[in-house]
Amino acid sequence: MSDELARYHRQMLLPGFGEAGQRRLLDATALILGCGALGSVAADMLARAGVGHLVVVDRDFVELTNLQRQVLFDERDVTDAIPKAEAAKRRIAKVNSQLRVTAVVDDVNPTNIERFAKGADVIVDGLDNFETRYLANDLAVKRGLPYVYGAAVGTTGMAFTVLPHATGHATGHAIGNTPWENAAGGSLATPCFRCLFEEAPPPGSSPTCDTVGVVGPAVAIVANFQVAETLKILTGQFDRISRTLLNLDLWANELHGLKVDNAYDKGDCPCCKHRRFDYLDGTTGSSAVALCGRDAVQLRHRQQPESVDFELLAARLRRHGRVKVNEFMLRARLSDSGYDYEITLFPDGRAIVKGTDRPAVARGIYAKYVGA
Ligand SMILES: [Zn+2]
Repeated sequence: MSDELARYHRQMLLPGFGEAGQRRLLDATALILGCGALGSVAADMLARAGVGHLVVVDRDFVELTNLQRQVLFDERDVTDAIPKAEAAKRRIAKVNSQLRVTAVVDDVNPTNIERFAKGADVIVDGLDNFETRYLANDLAVKRGLPYVYGAAVGTTGMAFTVLPHATGHATGHAIGNTPWENAAGGSLATPCFRCLFEEAPPPGSSPTCDTVGVVGPAVAIVANFQVAETLKILTGQFDRISRTLLNLDLWANELHGLKVDNAYDKGDCPCCKHRRFDYLDGTTGSSAVALCGRDAVQLRHRQQPESVDFELLAARLRRHGRVKVNEFMLRARLSDSGYDYEITLFPDGRAIVKGTDRPAVARGIYAKYVGA
């Protein structure tokens, strides 16, 4: 065994690995979207496993409240206000100097995601909102890229691996040429994220880590499940990919895999059956526009979401600041990492985030406190 591979010895002993598998990993590129709790655990383990090129994209800076679960970061990163993607890159360089890490400090959106995914062999989900997940899923299906979904909030977690159907039934194209779906070997393709979750929950209806909290181990389990799936993908072991939606609740001592195989056949997915990429094309999803001279950004959903449950959201936000609610709007003043923001939410899901003129910051605040 060459010196270069010596550090991976224990992993190379595994079924389906060997030197050939390890070399495939070293030649591979993983795109990690979001480097919060899931992303930092995933980046750390993928770096240790020897994935040759990691592209880490995150819009945020390291904050003190991250350290409870975001294993790549330390107090120094907080004091020095280092962006998470950059802090991840510095840390990984110390863990495994054989690798290349590309740190991207940016908000993932339809205009840039294709650029970030250039050359990627897999997309690993470390995201914090539905909209960007639909976007990542659109790209994965369009390009025939595996997408490893993961999410954790409170004491719960979920994960699923998407091996996209390369062709939609509706389009009648010839069977695809991805390694998991070819004419000779049959298909190991799975439902996509949009097959499983047809619609995003209305804004404010689902809990976020910033409103209800999150326990570190839930994140670590989900992220490590994603890492295992990613290692299988990058070494070409598609027959070992999980066929179920992982669902766990550590406080309720529940761990199970939901069978979802028929979600593709029974459903009528616009994305993977009809090859309509609404989020990637920008015809669905939100827009963020800086309101000139007002130190504020307006976020607007292009599709009318269901009406927002103000009372539920207000109850959650009251733990973080002053909240005013009436039939026309909900307004919350929040302090986040030393900055003051004011979110005003309207019944149609439109929001104005005051305290910044940067759309990426406003999206971040919205995702943290309102969610979806
Ligand atoms: Zn689908």
